[in-house]
Amino acid sequence: MESVDVVVIGAGFAGLIAARELGDAGLSVVVLEARDRVGGRTWTDRRFGHDLELGGTWVHWVQPHTWAEMTRYGREIERSPSAEEAYWRDADGASRRGTIAEFMALIDDGQQRIIDDVREAIPRGVAPTAGSISQLDDLSVQDRIDALALDPEARAANEAVWVGHVNAPLDQVGLSSALRWVAATGGHWQLMHEASATYRVVGGMSAFTSAIAEDVRGEVRLEAAVRSVSDAADGATVELVDGSRIHARRIICTVPVNAISTIAFDPPLPDAWQRLGAERVASQGTKAWIRARGHVTRFFAYASQHDPLSVLKAEYYGSDADGDYTLLVAFGPDHTRLDLDDLSAVQAAVDAFRPGIEVTGATGHDWMADPLSQNTWMTHRPGQLTRYLDDLQRPHGAVHFATTDNANLWGGFVDGAIESALRESRRIAAALA
Ligand SMILES: Cc1cc2nc3c(=O)[nH]c(=O)nc-3n(C[C@H](O)[C@H](O)[C@H](O)COP(=O)(O)OP(=O)(O)OC[C@H]3O[C@@H](n4cnc5c(N)ncnc54)[C@H](O)[C@@H]3O)c2cc1C
Repeated sequence: MESVDVVVIGAGFAGLIAARELGDAGLSVVVLEARDRVGGRTWTDRRFGHDLELGGTWVHWVQPHTWAEMTRYGREIERSPSAEEAYWRDADGASRRGTIAEFMALIDDGQQRIIDDVREAIPRGVAPTAGSISQLDDLSVQDRIDALALDPEARAANEAVWVGHVNAPLDQVGLSSALRWVAATGGHWQLMHEASATYRVVGGMSAFTSAIAEDVRGEVRLEAAVRSVSDAADGATVELVDGSRIHARRIICTVPVNAISTIAFDPPLPDAWQRLGAERVASQGTKAWIRARGHVTRFFAYASQHDPLSVLKAEYYGSDADGDYTLLVAFGPDHTRLDLDDLSAVQAAVDAFRPGIEVTGATGHDWMADPLSQNTWMTHRPGQLTRYLDDLQRPHGAVHFATTDNANLWGGFVDGAIESALRESRRIAAALA
């Protein structure tokens, strides 16, 4: 049987960074990735004549782990286009057009009041379960917004903005998911907005993860799905779906929490993993790329959390044999509400809040239906942060868990994946030294 110091399951950001660190520490390492590519929930694919990010996209210098890797691999950022006009729903639910300043004035009070107690709740973003958050963690984002008694127009706009961030109906998302990201940006919601949706990586995420993969001193094996992990003398044995087996002194599992039950663990996974995996985390939305006829004035638009799409933005412009076109990026709270192959349904979803656009194509990747992720960018249900996070970070025998889903600072983001990989690879390097 093949034998190595460490097997890393998964070649997303967490798996690649962990493997690089362990190889650099002088340990033998092999990465087993079920897909035919690295990058996991980040994936740059050529569609509509552009390199489109189907998964994770935006990065920021307030994300310290991401930014260190950006510097290390010489990656640059470019700004997503600044909007010139905004669309939102008025008090009667009708679409309304205005300036960016008008929209920001509409949401300013609500956005601030939603996160007003962030400094007491999560005083240090790097320690998200310290502070008074444990007393608030049963609240949903919806509970908090309801308590503010905003006027209907401001309420709908604030809800739509938050549903864009948290990727699920707001009554299913813990207030803690909103507060922890604002805690990560020093308590400033405007900076959180900028950090999570403004600067994309020049050359794409896939080129970024490929550069990290090339740096791994060890094999990154693709199309190598893991079926089981069993305790063995001095470590554990990993079995792949092709029946081959590898012994390792330590394992790092980077599989997302919603998908981890696809691997059989012996002894079984710790309680926290089993219970959270059964409950599922809150995130459940969709990200879509929509092709529109003509060059559309740069805009952003917000609908409501009850619509198939709640956020729409102009991202790219181009021309081809069919004439000028604009590529729009869209987000919705529930991946089952819209079939991207049904163009008339996509057209209706767009018309509902951004009239005057002719949809000529739509594409995306359903990360929720993808058995290897079953999740988008992770947000918790009420109570899950304080109930599970500490336990999720504990090794289980020879098995360690590194995933953005168990990170402290930017849990759910690329930054959290890198943080978790540095944490577990450091622990293993120290243990095996
Ligand atoms: C639509 C979308 C938009 C996002 N937008 C942003 C953004 O703008 N900014 C940001 O920072 N983050 C964003 N994110 C989140 C970000 O992409 C993730 O947090 C991050 O990529 C997760 O990295 P990871 O290594 O923890 O997990 P993953 O990338 O999910 O890696 C886990 C790997 O394990 C593999 N795997 C699963 N099961 C097995 C098995 N049995 N055997 C072998 N391999 C297996 C998977 O194929 C995968 O490659 C977004 C995510 C999505 C889906």
